[in-house]
Amino acid sequence: MTQVRNKALADVTMTPFWLDRPDAPEPRERLTRHLKADLLVVGGGFTGLWGAIQAKQRQPEIDVILIEKGSVANGASGRPGGVVSTSVMHGLSNAVRIFPKDIAALEKLGQENMHGFLKTLEEHAIDCHAEWGGELTVAVDDAHIEALHEEHELHLKYGHQAVFLDQSAVRAEINSPRYKAGVWSKHICGTVHPALLAFGLKRVALTLGVRIFENTELTGLEDLGDRMKAHAASGSVTAPKVLLATNAFAAGHRKIKNRVVAVRDRVLATEPLSAEQMAAIGWSHRQGVYDTRTQMNYMRLTKDNRIIFGGRLAYAFAGDPFPSIDRELDTYEPLAAAFFDTFPQLEGLRFSHAWSGPIDLSTRMAVHFQRYHDEKVVYAGGYSGFGVSASRFGARIALDILDGSKTPESRLDFATSLPNTIPPEPFRWLGAQITMYALDTADKSGGWRRPWLKMVSAMGFPLS
Ligand SMILES: Cc1cc2nc3c(=O)[nH]c(=O)nc-3n(C[C@H](O)[C@H](O)[C@H](O)COP(=O)(O)OP(=O)(O)OC[C@H]3O[C@@H](n4cnc5c(N)ncnc54)[C@H](O)[C@@H]3O)c2cc1C
Repeated sequence: MTQVRNKALADVTMTPFWLDRPDAPEPRERLTRHLKADLLVVGGGFTGLWGAIQAKQRQPEIDVILIEKGSVANGASGRPGGVVSTSVMHGLSNAVRIFPKDIAALEKLGQENMHGFLKTLEEHAIDCHAEWGGELTVAVDDAHIEALHEEHELHLKYGHQAVFLDQSAVRAEINSPRYKAGVWSKHICGTVHPALLAFGLKRVALTLGVRIFENTELTGLEDLGDRMKAHAASGSVTAPKVLLATNAFAAGHRKIKNRVVAVRDRVLATEPLSAEQMAAIGWSHRQGVYDTRTQMNYMRLTKDNRIIFGGRLAYAFAGDPFPSIDRELDTYEPLAAAFFDTFPQLEGLRFSHAWSGPIDLSTRMAVHFQRYHDEKVVYAGGYSGFGVSASRFGARIALDILDGSKTPESRLDFATSLPNTIPPEPFRWLGAQITMYALDTADKSGGWRRPWLKMVSAMGFPLS
């Protein structure tokens, strides 16, 4: 099997499949002047782009500047699986875990968020290969079937269109010998091409009059009392409000990292599947798929019938979001092995792209808001790998906080409370290594692993 994996990986390009496009828009100019604005957005991923767009949609007359260290979609937004969902809190079960009393409100906000998301796609003709086949959560372990039944009940309780699939039904959907059961949620969820979405949002932001500067890194924020001054290498922006949309990079304030860990997740794209290969796996409804484990795998199809297959979180010392190890082929072998365990009938299929991306892990597993400099500066992040559509919502609430508006939602716990703090280095690195090892081996060996995982769960991380 090792040989099969090695051969399958032999020709990969170490670039995200999504960003490997000749039609990617040219980067905008660098900031080389001293400018003023009403709102500065730092970060050109989904949170930053949606923040800039929604600010202009609310008040077209205001001047909005967005600065991005690299180019738009350079961070997590150009690298995800691209599964989209109505949940703004990393799924219904996680929402119930963290904010049980606000669940009805969060569900409503999630629905509204997806309607706003779709409206923008339609109004501005953003073609991001959206497919609405739904989300399929699968159990690859008998021990998780009960949890899936509970998940199904929860979906029904909150009015989702969801069906429970037993082993034969789930395999009739997607023919994998690993799948024991599934819950298929069908209401406005599915997949998008994330880079095409980001490029489309960039176009919309520019159309609305947002000034975007790429290759412009925020190097420091200075509090001038009624305004903030944001410094970059060869320019600056003065603005009364700053939205920090810097995700796992945590740029903008040294304290952000106290509650956000930059882990990475790895992804593989296959070459396009032939008609025979597609017939061998089924998957005619083309759902976005997750499994129920903490070290889970997720997958989806692309428009040209490649499989995008991701998983295997890792942590590098001090949270380096792009460590050199992620450009080594060996790093992707366990993921390739998991792929062929999922689809042994695809032996011989080769991978075309391999990449990793930064994930802003927080104990909440969903967006939170850190407020600095008397709320002139707000950081929105911590999506923990579930932010393609939730980032629109995160940006919206951050704008409410910056505007000082007291909307009912900005008074709910999710907007006012913070996730737990996470120990600093070197304990962070050590803890991450032990936890990843314990997760990988806990099923085979007991010993210290289960008490350790219980202790990490007690810190707030939901481990299974
Ligand atoms: C491998 C992977 C798979 C994922 N799969 C899914 C999925 O299937 N579904 C889902 O919903 N979510 C998924 N996610 C999560 C989702 O991609 C993110 O939650 C979302 O893209 C976050 O957007 P963002 O704008 O907050 O962050 P980012 O896209 O990371 O944007 C932050 C930006 O800030 C910029 N920046 C950093 N520092 C500075 C600075 N000093 N000055 C200026 N700019 C700066 C960065 O360059 C970056 O472009 C996945 C993430 C990864 C990595």
